[in-house]
Amino acid sequence: MIRVNLDSDEVPDRWYNIVPDLPEKLPPAIHPGTREPLKPEEWEGLFPKALVRQELSEERYIRIPEEVREALITIGRPSPLYRARRLEKALGTPARIYFKREDLSPAGSHKPNTAIAQAYYNMAEGVENLTTETGAGQWGSALSSACALYGLKCTVFMVRSSYDSKPYRKFVMKMFGADVYASPSNVTEFGRKVNREDPTCSGSLGIAISEAVEMAVKGEKTKYALGSVLNHVMLHQTVIGLEAQKQLEKIGEKPDTLIACVGGGSNFAGFTFPFIHDKQKGKNDAKFIAVEPQSVPSLTGMKSGESKYDYDFGDTAGMTPMLKMHSLGHDFMPRVIHAGGLRYHGMSPLVSLLYKNNVIEAEALHQAETFAAGKLFAETEGIIAAPESCHAIASAINHARAAKKANEEKVIVFNLSGHGLLDLQNYADMLKF
Ligand SMILES: *Cc1c(COP(=O)(O)O)cnc(C)c1O
Repeated sequence: MIRVNLDSDEVPDRWYNIVPDLPEKLPPAIHPGTREPLKPEEWEGLFPKALVRQELSEERYIRIPEEVREALITIGRPSPLYRARRLEKALGTPARIYFKREDLSPAGSHKPNTAIAQAYYNMAEGVENLTTETGAGQWGSALSSACALYGLKCTVFMVRSSYDSKPYRKFVMKMFGADVYASPSNVTEFGRKVNREDPTCSGSLGIAISEAVEMAVKGEKTKYALGSVLNHVMLHQTVIGLEAQKQLEKIGEKPDTLIACVGGGSNFAGFTFPFIHDKQKGKNDAKFIAVEPQSVPSLTGMKSGESKYDYDFGDTAGMTPMLKMHSLGHDFMPRVIHAGGLRYHGMSPLVSLLYKNNVIEAEALHQAETFAAGKLFAETEGIIAAPESCHAIASAINHARAAKKANEEKVIVFNLSGHGLLDLQNYADMLKF
């Protein structure tokens, strides 16, 4: 079987929330001043009530509103699961490699899965403007299109290095009617402060989040939307894993290794959490592998002391609640690497807790290796993957090679989080076209 499809009535009707199934209690988000657990009312300054309820929920399953399910179908769900036969052949591996196609959404990544839900709940509670940040532009594109769907205005702060090097994603956002500012910008107090102190600042996700939060807090009928990290975002992304479970079941496959790249952790969480629950029930004995760039080692940097598992801010200015997570520090300025979506200093508290408890594993790869893997994937499977997704591909290739050495028939499944058709300059730079 080369492609496993599901029918549109097989789009999940509930999200899976891993909170009740965690190996230990999830440390709550805390108020930076009082250090007390953040109260729902305090979250509500930034997010609509429905999302705050999801953020704090301990229910295992949460119903997906019918309007959201329909919108998910509109953007192409359920997404197919593919077998990478030609890649297997090129590697000469006895492993069977599968990948879930989150690259097929109109915005080009998994991010619309949560953008649609977030825009919907904001619209339902009378919010008129959403502010957000974006790195490479994937999240900004996804949220702008979701806002257009529900008649909301969208303001995006785009990390300056990407704003300058990726004009096409900016045009995508403008096509959906969004206002896009290079961050640090001159439209917020914090942006002006950063620009005064360092006029050549190329920006970071942490700075862009501070600007978006500042604008949301000061604005009328304005709220903020985050594309990763928070519990409700991980929740919305579980449609990926819930579908993949059904697809593997259909063809009688049991996964041995599940792989996804991690920035803030959402595509990894969405893909793996339902399978982690299966493993607890004895339905598989899989390994779960989060792949990050060597230059942004929020998980793997624990060994060298570069990262810590502790309370930290989600943004540079320290305006967000503090989250207990693996973090490189909220003032971390990442090197400008090509996988812009993986440059975040922190990691989802849920993914962090699972890493700390050895439920999941992490690997760090150098970007040269990931682009080489992306080239091989393009040549064998005919798909140009996002630079972020190339981290998952490179790891899957490494595991398939190890299976060859050990002569093991492993089932390796990775999440193809997005396509790279707007990232060709990155390929050109890295592969010297
Ligand atoms: C944003 C993005 C990522 C990283 O974000 P996560 O929240 O870790 O999933 C990965 N791949 C693509 C294509 C992205 O756009």
